[in-house]
Amino acid sequence: MEKKVTRIGVLTSGGDSPGMNAAIRAVVRTGIYNQMEVYGIMRGYSGMVDGDIFKMESKSVANIIQRGGTILKTSRCNEFLEPQGRKKAYESLKEFGINGLIIIGGDGSFRGAQIFSKEYDIPCIGLPGTIDKDIAGTDFTIGFDTAVNTAVEAIDKIRDTMDAHDRLFVIEVMGRDSGYIALHSGIATGAENILIPEKVTDIEAILSALMEKERRQKLVNLIIVAEGKFGGANEVAKIVRERLPQQEVRVCILGHIQRGGSPSCFDRLIASRMGYAAVECLLEGKHNVFVGILNNRLHYTPLDEAVKKKQRISEEWMKIVKILSS
Ligand code: ADP
Repeated sequence: MEKKVTRIGVLTSGGDSPGMNAAIRAVVRTGIYNQMEVYGIMRGYSGMVDGDIFKMESKSVANIIQRGGTILKTSRCNEFLEPQGRKKAYESLKEFGINGLIIIGGDGSFRGAQIFSKEYDIPCIGLPGTIDKDIAGTDFTIGFDTAVNTAVEAIDKIRDTMDAHDRLFVIEVMGRDSGYIALHSGIATGAENILIPEKVTDIEAILSALMEKERRQKLVNLIIVAEGKFGGANEVAKIVRERLPQQEVRVCILGHIQRGGSPSCFDRLIASRMGYAAVECLLEGKHNVFVGILNNRLHYTPLDEAVKKKQRISEEWMKIVKILSS
């Protein structure tokens, strides 16, 4: 017989993303609605290892849906990478009688949950909280929409000055291993080139096109670079300056502004829907899956599968970039 989940632990782990608070709120309120007890675990897996855990009430999550960051704080926890650390984490959960876990985080956090769920008999449900949108099995991740809108707003402003001065700008957006923010913000701001880690970039072709434009006195150019590509915007600008010494090349690294800020309506909605669904999963006895949304329906992917795949960028998107920027 399945053990009924009566006490849920909820944590946010890895890189923070706007909308994590909305997800925590949904988990807490849905849990309490279903007569469960909900415990907040501080600083991701670190709080699990250290036993930094507290009981949450409905009012603990009042007035947070609109706030970026995470009230539970987050961290990267090296101890959890080791069996000994995970054992300590399990003992903390036992101490509080927690028999179901909801992990809000990215693919690294899911990997931690997957390993933990193999070692210990505690059902784990993941919620994709990451601005990178690189998790396969969901069309959306909590925080991506906000991050990309923040990037678009900033790039639009830079474009105004770029246009006024006829300059070439190389703008770096977040995404060490994932080009989604670069792709979406680049298309939405009409970038001439978008450089992402997932695709091979023909830098010679880009330089030739820039030279040709220079000949035609078309000097305004916007290149969006994901931070993981060619070592980021500074490196790309260096290459361009070497080959086009007449060009005024400017660099802007958007950096952490993309992580923070009030979540968009869309991120609040998906966080609320996924948070609710995560508790439903535990009530229904679903084990070790993450909750996603595919084709506007809730979709559950086993953590075992989730850690093996990455969200791919379709060729169609790349074709759209090429056609629309020509
Ligand atoms: P994200 O969830 O944003 O991708 P990380 O990759 O930093 O962030 O992962 C968050 C945490 O998940 C790590 O600090 C670690 O505690 C845990 N974790 C990641 N990979 C593993 C693993 N292979 N085994 C155990 N825990 C892991």
